[in-house]
Amino acid sequence: MPTNTLTACPTCSADISGYATCRDLYNELSYYTLQHSDPEFFIHQYIVDAYAAQHATDNPKPITNAFALIGLYLFAEKKYTGKAVQKAHMALAKNKKTWPQFIPPKERPHITVREVLNTKPGLLRDEAIKQWAESVWDSWKNEHQKIKELIELHS
Ligand SMILES: [Zn+2]
Repeated sequence: MPTNTLTACPTCSADISGYATCRDLYNELSYYTLQHSDPEFFIHQYIVDAYAAQHATDNPKPITNAFALIGLYLFAEKKYTGKAVQKAHMALAKNKKTWPQFIPPKERPHITVREVLNTKPGLLRDEAIKQWAESVWDSWKNEHQKIKELIELHS
């Protein structure tokens, strides 16, 4: 394991002790979500969008954040499954060429990839993933209106 003096992610403030980067925690969680017993539900999409939105300032392309926020909106407000979010993303990718910039929330998140990874695999962890995605969506409340308008414009 590489030596690293960081114990918190500089972007999302997650406790990354034991790992080199926050993305390593995310990758470990991905092994879980990609092997999930309910592939049709596709819970993996929720962690893709929650992680991307919590690392918005690290993403060089506006499309990454726009898609993450649209995905979180469809989950949190419209109760889409991960599979349905994925389909919506694919449809959007065909139509839109430019995406607006969004201003990330300033406050520190209370749920990060670390809290999710700390939960027991199975129902508890699936619930933690949904809580994480919902909390990330809530934290972006200053941009909710802009995201809703963006979706209405392209649906
Ligand atoms: Zn992080």
